[in-house]
Amino acid sequence: MTGECMCGIVTFEVNQPLIGAALCYCKRCQRRTGTGVSATGLTQPGSFVITAGEKSVRVYEPGDGGFNKYFCGECGGHLYTCHPDNPDILAIRLGALNEDPGIRPLAHQFTDYAAPWFPVPEDDLPKFPERLDWSQVDLG
Ligand SMILES: [Zn+2]
Ligand SMILES: [Zn+2]
Repeated sequence: MTGECMCGIVTFEVNQPLIGAALCYCKRCQRRTGTGVSATGLTQPGSFVITAGEKSVRVYEPGDGGFNKYFCGECGGHLYTCHPDNPDILAIRLGALNEDPGIRPLAHQFTDYAAPWFPVPEDDLPKFPERLDWSQVDLG
């Protein structure tokens, strides 16, 4: 699986299937993306590789225990997010992928923060008012 930022300077590869995917409604994702929801896929440890443009990758570190956000410094396109203390917990932005990852979102998280103009859909997926707990999600 491959992906890239909006301008194409940064490219990456994911060489193992994703573990899971989720939709996030947190205010940080709203500000980061300019819209109501963000789709992210959890990678298997060590399966994510930047294949070009590493020098252009910038990071926003919230510094409050929140995940670090990696994006292209040239175009602002978001690429992936990583646990501040554990680089093995790395999730890619599904919108940056070139191909269909196969997997579909399995949960909604931070649903308490959903924008009034983008409500959480009434589907069968588990809804977490705060951060999701992958141990409570059916990964199939
Ligand atoms: Zn870019
Ligand atoms: Zn979020």
